[in-house]
Amino acid sequence: MSQKTKPKVAFFDFTSCEGCQLNKLNLENHLLDVLELVDIVEFREAMDGRADHYDIAFIEGSISTPTCVERINDIRRRSTILVAIGSCAVRGGVNAMKNLMPIDVVREAVYGKDKYLFPTLPAQPVSAVVKVDYEVDGCPMTTQEYLHVLTSLLMGKKPIKINHAVCVECKRNENECVFAKGMVCMGPVTRGGCDALCPGVGQYCVGCRGFVDQPEKNAALEIFRQHGLSMEEARKKMTMFNAFRWADR
Ligand code: SF4
Ligand code: SF4
Repeated sequence: MSQKTKPKVAFFDFTSCEGCQLNKLNLENHLLDVLELVDIVEFREAMDGRADHYDIAFIEGSISTPTCVERINDIRRRSTILVAIGSCAVRGGVNAMKNLMPIDVVREAVYGKDKYLFPTLPAQPVSAVVKVDYEVDGCPMTTQEYLHVLTSLLMGKKPIKINHAVCVECKRNENECVFAKGMVCMGPVTRGGCDALCPGVGQYCVGCRGFVDQPEKNAALEIFRQHGLSMEEARKKMTMFNAFRWADR
C-alpha cells in the first residue's frame, strides 16, 4: 500500500482515565508495524494535528457533558468507521455509577456551590448517542483485542466479537478457580477476551467486559448461592462497570 492510500486513523478521548489510549502506546513490538499500515492524523496524547475526515476513528471514554454530545456527533459525521474502545466508551464504565444518584446531587458533591458552572449529564456509552460500528471492551481494553479489531478492519474483514465467558479462558490457562480460595468471581457471566487476566493473577473478575450475550444465569446464581451470595449482592458486584444498564434513565 502506498503512503497516499494509507487509511486515516484518529483517536479521541472523552470522559475517561485515558488508560485505554495509553495501552495503545504500549503496543511496543507492534507499534512500528501499525505505523507502516495507517496514517495517524489525530491523537491528542501523542501528537499535534487535525484532519477533516477519518477512515477509522477510535473513541475512548463515556459521553457525559453537552460538549461531549456535540463533539461525538461531529466526529461521527466525519468518520467512515467508528470504534468504541474500553469499558467507558462501550458501556459507560465506572463513570456511569454516578447515574445511580440524581445528577444534581452528584454535581453538588463534586463542584459544591459552583455546580451550575459544570452542566454534566448522566454518563452514557458512545452507542447511546451515535452509531458505533465496532467495540473493543475491557478496562483497560487489551492490546491483543485492539490489534485484532484494527487488523481485521485494515483487511476489510468484520472483527470477531468473543461471546464466551471468562471461565472458558481461565480453564484454558489452567488457572486455579478463585472460588476455591473463598472469593466470589463474576467470570461465569462476563464476556471473555481478556485471557482471564484477573483470575490469572489470583484476583476475582469484576465484570469490566459486561455480560456474555446469553449468560447461564441460573447456573451462575446457583454457584453464587452456594458461596453465600444473593442475587442482589451479585448485582451489586457487577455494578461497577455495568451501572448504565441498571440506572433509571
Ligand atoms: S475503560 Fe478503564 S482504562 Fe479505559 S479509559 Fe475507562 S477507566 Fe480508563
Ligand atoms: S476464577 Fe472466575 S473466571 Fe476463573 S474459572 Fe473461576 S469463576 Fe471462572
